Amino acid sequence: MTGTRHPVRSTTPSPAKRTRTAAGPAPAAAADPIPAAAEDPVAGAGPGGPAGAAARAAAGPRLHAPAPGWSESADVVVVGSGVAGLTAALRCAAAGLRTVVVTKASLDEGSTRWAQGGIAAALGDGDTPEQHLEDTLVAGAGLCDRDAVRTLVTEGPDAVRRLIATGARFDTSAATGAIALTREGGHHRSRIAHAGGDATGAEVSRALVAAVRERGIPTVRNALVLDLLTDGAGRTAGVTLHVMGEGQHDGVGAVHAPAVVLATGGMGQVFSATTNPSVSTGDGVALALRAGAEVSDLEFVQFHPTVLFLGADAEGQQPLVSEAVRGEGAHLVDAGGVRFMTGQHELGELAPRDIVAKAITRRMQEQGAEHMYLDARHFGAAMWERRFPTILAACRAHGIDPVTEPVPVAPAAHYASGGVRTDRRGRTTVPGLYACGEVACTGVHGANRLASNSLLEGLVYAERIADDIAALHAEGALRARVPAPTAPPEPAEHPLLAPEARFAVQRIMTEGAGVLRSAASLERAAARLGQLDEDARNAFREHGKTAEPGVDSWEATNLLCVARVLVAAARERSETRGCHWRLDHPERDDTGWRRHIVVTLNPDRGLALRTTRDADLPPVRPGAPVPPPGGPVPGGAAAPSADRRHPSAAPGRDTGRDVLLPSDTVQQRPQEQ
Ligand SMILES: Cc1cc2nc3c(=O)[nH]c(=O)nc-3n(C[C@H](O)[C@H](O)[C@H](O)COP(=O)(O)OP(=O)(O)OC[C@H]3O[C@@H](n4cnc5c(N)ncnc54)[C@H](O)[C@@H]3O)c2cc1C
Repeated sequence: MTGTRHPVRSTTPSPAKRTRTAAGPAPAAAADPIPAAAEDPVAGAGPGGPAGAAARAAAGPRLHAPAPGWSESADVVVVGSGVAGLTAALRCAAAGLRTVVVTKASLDEGSTRWAQGGIAAALGDGDTPEQHLEDTLVAGAGLCDRDAVRTLVTEGPDAVRRLIATGARFDTSAATGAIALTREGGHHRSRIAHAGGDATGAEVSRALVAAVRERGIPTVRNALVLDLLTDGAGRTAGVTLHVMGEGQHDGVGAVHAPAVVLATGGMGQVFSATTNPSVSTGDGVALALRAGAEVSDLEFVQFHPTVLFLGADAEGQQPLVSEAVRGEGAHLVDAGGVRFMTGQHELGELAPRDIVAKAITRRMQEQGAEHMYLDARHFGAAMWERRFPTILAACRAHGIDPVTEPVPVAPAAHYASGGVRTDRRGRTTVPGLYACGEVACTGVHGANRLASNSLLEGLVYAERIADDIAALHAEGALRARVPAPTAPPEPAEHPLLAPEARFAVQRIMTEGAGVLRSAASLERAAARLGQLDEDARNAFREHGKTAEPGVDSWEATNLLCVARVLVAAARERSETRGCHWRLDHPERDDTGWRRHIVVTLNPDRGLALRTTRDADLPPVRPGAPVPPPGGPVPGGAAAPSADRRHPSAAPGRDTGRDVLLPSDTVQQRPQEQ
């Protein structure tokens, strides 16, 4: 992450309360001047005030942070500035909504700019959305939501055309001038649009950032969003955030808005080695859990098989060596030069990602090796420079020349197929809270993402969210809400994790919940994660010590939160499916497990797990109050009641639409804040 990272400056509110509307002068950066102002609604809503009675309804534990010292207001807050966030922001602003983008670092920081391969869409002659749908369903291994996929593939081509109209320049065929389309693993057609050879994400990000700047959409950069604000009825009322860096717009503040779009990207940083940048710490999933939202499918983490190996101690983001390199004929070999994929799969090195990742991991374990090699010396310098300039540069920057030596590679966490559960309008189960892009679980990816579907999903579902918010706004259903006051979290019960615990979380996850998992490895991981939480509590109980609120401790706390949910879900799913490999349950079990694991966080930080079939999200109307647990859901459908979630109901024994997993142990275990 490029932004300055330091603890919050003080634990008292900033000196001046400030308010500003998004319609005011667009701040180009966190340092922009903010007109001084009137009352801060967060600070102004005391327990005896209008929202006082509703304090009970304010959702569960929050991150430890100073009270907001300044505030802004808007119609929509978009959290994150990748393909999903900026697409949503541009369309919201175009619809006349006062829109503010908040982002943790610079506008182009995030996974989007690292995307290499391209965007999948049925743009080519003879290709159809139906064929794209079929390929996506196969990759998703029986867990895709067919309607969500149909939306993706039918709206995808026009969404890509709109992206081009926004300014993105894709590679074109020299002969016809049409968009050049290539093929990737799992696609039966050439339907991957790419830019700059292997620099698609950088071009998408450049175009969207330029458009946001051109249209003067207010952005707050170097700002970490902490938690959701809700009103007395549990509806979205905005977010709290901490602005890092210099300037008036500093410290912890709030942006008040009746609609919040989470577009915070993935959670790859939960593992030691990942292709994701340092901002991908699962903040959006952790925030949504604390706000009471449902998350789903977190056990499905796609590991990219060929990531540049930078040493056993290397942590954080590591360069990807795209499967297109294998597509062009590179070989996977061990230290003895043996091509170990031969005979493993009919497609050899071009087998699906999960198969290749598993084969590499197995070979490493068998040989006690830290990595394998990708040998593409036969490409020659000219081909490397023309076809894979980004990868060539990344390798050379780390002292490896692929033209003359094999490239050391190992699998690393790449993509979160699960996330915050949404319907096809991007609505989560918390009224007014939306999610899109990698943070969301729309049902598109099922148990495994098809290559290059993620940028497309970011585009399509961000547009749908903007349309939904605009429609609700037009009918007056989204009005400013007064945030309910929340009691500061008890450090003894909801401790922040020390910054250095981030590395412990990553090591635990890599060892216990990586490419190959088992009941034993996951049990160990769960126990060690629990111990981290317990240590933090004990430090406070015994020594009155708690980690200082700050970016690194908030991120570490969020990482622990998502790690525990991921491990809990992976323990429950006693089968192998898509990118979830259980050594002790090597077969896919359609009878018992053609279901999603849905998780919520209880106020006491215990996890509630249940399983569900596709597309049974209760309709959530962003303007309507939250129903009590088990009560009627606005719009008609019944919410899952306590007894329908009876612990005796086992997966596979479908007792109705919602079944609680036999996971009392998980349920009872206290969960990090
Ligand atoms: C190396 C690599 C190659 C890839 N190649 C492809 C490809 O070829 N095709 C494809 O379709 N997909 C690819 N992917 C996946 C794809 O890039 C991502 O899934 C997609 O870009 C995610 O977009 P997003 O907008 O959801 O999130 P991101 O682009 O990750 O953006 C997230 C944003 O949220 C911000 N943020 C996070 N937390 C907070 C917080 N607490 N407060 C404020 N802001 C926050 C971040 O700073 C960032 O701006 C690749 C991913 C990687 C890492």
